[in-house]
Amino acid sequence: MPQHNICVFCASSLGRDPTYSRLATEVGEIIAKSGMGLVYGGASIGLMGKVADAALINGGQVTGVIPDGLRSRELNHKGLSELLITEDMHERKRIMYERSDGFLALPGGMGTLEEIFESATWTKLGFHKGRKNKPVILVGSSSFWSPLISFLDMLVEEELMKVSDREIVAYEENPKKAVDRLVSYFDSP
Ligand code: AMP
Repeated sequence: MPQHNICVFCASSLGRDPTYSRLATEVGEIIAKSGMGLVYGGASIGLMGKVADAALINGGQVTGVIPDGLRSRELNHKGLSELLITEDMHERKRIMYERSDGFLALPGGMGTLEEIFESATWTKLGFHKGRKNKPVILVGSSSFWSPLISFLDMLVEEELMKVSDREIVAYEENPKKAVDRLVSYFDSP
């Protein structure tokens, strides 16, 4: 079993730009090759499926966590190392956060944004199980993430968010550097 798990939040669709799929595949491969386990939402579709497929092909340990309602729509990935079925979305997200040491976010929609900000809020409040501080790194092109990054910076300027809380959500364009950043964080005392 891997010593540490990285949870990936990303779209349940493929998106318009093929670079999203390439990024998802790259991230799955890098996580597996770095010896980290992958935790994610358990779907076979969209960027979620791409991350999982790439991690599995490269010998990674992949845990999917999916609510029963989504599974019955045949959306769950059939080849995972482990599939955990939950009653609802709340239990699913709690288990995804509990099972992982840090988070990477790739391009996604409403569900991805929800997971970024919920997991960051739990770090801010010290609500995570085990390691209290579980960072989130936004990964991929700056043109995709810059509107969100600007908005977060504006919240600090408006004194609606502390600088220390703003730092919970980091950004790294390069997926290898993003994984390395999490791994070095896991290794620090
Ligand atoms: P979205 O960004 O709206 O596509 O939502 C993707 C995120 O929300 C993932 O990280 C999942 O954990 C969760 N999610 C949303 N829709 C689905 C789905 N159809 N199947 C599995 N997970 C989903």
